[in-house]
Amino acid sequence: MRYVSTRGEAPARDFEGVLLAGLAEDGGLFMPESWPEFPAAEWRALRGLPYAEIAARVVAPFAEGCLTLAELRGMTAAAYGGFSHAAVVPLVQLDARTHALELFHGPTLAFKDLAMQLLGQLFDHALERRGERVTIVGATSGDTGSAAIEACRDRRNIDIAILHPLGRTSEVQRRQMTTVLSANVHNIAVEGDFDTCQDMVKAMFADTAFRSEMKLSAVNSINWARVAAQIPYYVAAALALGAPDRPVAVSVPTGNFGNVLAAWAARRMGLPIERLIISANRNDILPRFFTANDMTARAVEPSLSPSMDIQVSSNFERLLFELLGRDAGATARTMRAFRDTGRMPVPDAAWREAAGLFRGVALDDEGTLREMRRVHAATSWLPDPHTATATYAAAHLAPEDPAIPVIVAATAHPAKFPDAAERAVGFRPALPPHLADLMRREERLEVMPNDLEAVEAAVRRHARRNAN
Ligand SMILES: *Cc1c(COP(=O)(O)O)cnc(C)c1O
Repeated sequence: MRYVSTRGEAPARDFEGVLLAGLAEDGGLFMPESWPEFPAAEWRALRGLPYAEIAARVVAPFAEGCLTLAELRGMTAAAYGGFSHAAVVPLVQLDARTHALELFHGPTLAFKDLAMQLLGQLFDHALERRGERVTIVGATSGDTGSAAIEACRDRRNIDIAILHPLGRTSEVQRRQMTTVLSANVHNIAVEGDFDTCQDMVKAMFADTAFRSEMKLSAVNSINWARVAAQIPYYVAAALALGAPDRPVAVSVPTGNFGNVLAAWAARRMGLPIERLIISANRNDILPRFFTANDMTARAVEPSLSPSMDIQVSSNFERLLFELLGRDAGATARTMRAFRDTGRMPVPDAAWREAAGLFRGVALDDEGTLREMRRVHAATSWLPDPHTATATYAAAHLAPEDPAIPVIVAATAHPAKFPDAAERAVGFRPALPPHLADLMRREERLEVMPNDLEAVEAAVRRHARRNAN
């Protein structure tokens, strides 16, 4: 399988090349040259298999030419063996047609573990084969950093340095990063805000001498392998609810558009997903697009669902590329116009196609708390603030036919957001057993000023220590 850039000016690569490169050289995102399609019999054959097996078989066509099914099986077994639920991604029925797909049984209690845990395995395998070592750097406002750290800890060929804004993450989020005491993990608390950290990481990548010296790499959400690793759970859930012999719908709380893009990809592969519902908090650029072809960036506002506090959804470019008939020139022009004017000019025909498949709705903080309360009162099951936007969207935007079940992506465990839970339902959900002592564990972090040279020196010092 080869991958092409959505902007058409970068050389095609194979799965491993795309994994290690992340972004294409022309600023575009990698997409498979063609979509693998599974006939109905092949979907049926996956029914009832363990999750790791479904994941290996669904990812296999994307890694064709780089990894064998046997190699992938080893990796998915290792990636998902540590999850705290035997089903890995269990379904919980919320009402006659709505089912929560619990994606939070990984080490950091959010759906990002499903992709990151496999990514860690994939990186290790590729680097081992090439005899290379990389330093992964990233900035986080909370969830992504801990998922990346858990995925990379103790890996022989990887050092990881994660920058977070000093004092500006929740204590649970910080501790999920800083209590990982592995020698290859480096937590840096920067005196500044999230944008300071993000700018610092960009500056490190722009410093070409430093970039090549440290072999910098990233595991951000535009990495194709992360999208690929998110397809299997939609497959597992849809099969459990009767696909391919019965259509389903999905409802996904959306920020960078990576998770829902994976559902779109599952549909493209032949899974009968009738409708893709996205939900947002007050940062509503995506619902505005799908209801009115209005993709206009505004200032980001903080909300109870911080992982969706986003205005520019980087993975949207992949859908755009498809909507424009895979015309890379048109995609590049559209993205340039968006960057220059803050408004994305999507042709009406392309928008109509998108609007026929996607629905979107935004929910403010008060609505989110009300929805958490509603679901908990009706089911005793408590959604986290991100998931609550999606249960709300499912209740309001499901297909007219009540026989079509709706799969709600439950993207985080409610214990990650105890303050919101307390406001909504009056109690703080308990952390699961494997994290029960989190607040008493030893922390390790380095506090650094907002000074590129000093932070680069710290990253270098730490990585050198491990390189031998
Ligand atoms: C990252 C995240 C999201 C948004 O997912 P995208 O793939 O960026 O759309 C939603 N909920 C939670 C809990 C997250 O951590």
